[in-house]
Amino acid sequence: MVLVPCITHHSGDVAVILLKFTSALKSATRILENHPELSFDIEEALLSLKEVGDLERRLAAFNTSRQEKETVSVAERDISNVLASAKLSKIQAYQGLGTGALNALPLMDRQVLQNNSSRYINQEFASQPLWETTTYGTTGFPISIYSSAGFYFDQLFLSLIKISSRVGFNAERNRVYAAHVTDTHGQRITVNPMGRNEATIRLIIDQFDDNSIRQASRILIDLQPCILCARSEIIEVLAQFSECSQYRPELVVCSGSFLEDERRERFKHFFSCPVVNAYGLTEFGPVASECSATPGWLHIDRSIVHHEFAADSEVHPTHELVLSSVSNMAMPLLRYRTGDIVRVENNMCICGSVDPQVSMSSGRLVPTFKRRSGRLFSPTIFNGLSASLPIAKYQVIQENINQLVVLIHPRVGALSDLIEPTLRYVQSASRNEFDVRVGHLESYSSSNFQRYKCMI
Ligand SMILES: [Zn+2]
Repeated sequence: MVLVPCITHHSGDVAVILLKFTSALKSATRILENHPELSFDIEEALLSLKEVGDLERRLAAFNTSRQEKETVSVAERDISNVLASAKLSKIQAYQGLGTGALNALPLMDRQVLQNNSSRYINQEFASQPLWETTTYGTTGFPISIYSSAGFYFDQLFLSLIKISSRVGFNAERNRVYAAHVTDTHGQRITVNPMGRNEATIRLIIDQFDDNSIRQASRILIDLQPCILCARSEIIEVLAQFSECSQYRPELVVCSGSFLEDERRERFKHFFSCPVVNAYGLTEFGPVASECSATPGWLHIDRSIVHHEFAADSEVHPTHELVLSSVSNMAMPLLRYRTGDIVRVENNMCICGSVDPQVSMSSGRLVPTFKRRSGRLFSPTIFNGLSASLPIAKYQVIQENINQLVVLIHPRVGALSDLIEPTLRYVQSASRNEFDVRVGHLESYSSSNFQRYKCMI
């Protein structure tokens, strides 16, 4: 016999939720009618409806946490509660470590997760749907992350609401809420079950196919989404197409890589709107973003993560960011070394938020590379290299318009065995447009190690 717990909602709440959801669905339907190339996952939309209560709770926690004067943050309190209970007992990696203080746990790094990420999955969630995402791979070997429904929909629906509210931005109703433009994942429409915003679209571009970028531009011009969200090098690729200037977002959000001042100014000019930088990791979701008062400094979201620092070096004025979170109870990560070196500002910001601010190092800067045609592309197309071949670290350098140099450090085996497959991988990813030379990566320990470099 299977017993299903019966949850009763107040009938008034259900009516309001359904009404808002129906209105948001109508907006998705209108988009689908004109753009059948976008898809809509009905099953996922229905699952998200069950998470409305949790999403409201998460958003409220973010809003109070920003102003909270308490020294113990929401995330820190949540972590303490989880540690004090038996909630980690079904996670192999934490067995025998829980019930104490957070700082009594050992630091963990990506390597530990790469070697066996399944040890971090909470068996309590074995019978529930989990979403698997893979880390993007800009800073290391891709890792599988498993998300609970609450965490997955938090990232999908609340990230941009949180980021835009830090800069005091409110999206217009009756206009598509946002467009995410990427070079991975599928094209689709999502509808926020909280009914706060209109539908959001996700567009995929093939950087080696001008038609694919023109098609994405046409959709952006037609739908005019309020917020444009993409990695900064993808925005750079879009901005080469003059027709894209007919798209007038109200806000541009850059995430996933370092945003140089010069790039920010160019985007501001091109789109005639504010440009905000956000920092996130697939492991935790977006965890920091700028306010309007202090560009370049990103407030940490203390409703999701608790942060600490591992000293980079005694003389270096920056630190490695270490994060802990129980926001994703399907795979909570505690004392996780991000590998990102930051500077820290703890004083209260003039925007009124008490959330500490970090400034990212330029090590995460992803430049654009140039094709013979003059068109730009993001070298993150090579991100899969270390997942496809036994390569521990690599660097790709564009030396001139015809030539790419790839420096590799083998994970196992001899360098000579990897030269030919690396050459084939890089040539194929860049559609055989370049001469490729493969060599040995001698040193990569610097905190400012840049995986991609462009010399032209
Ligand atoms: Zn601020």
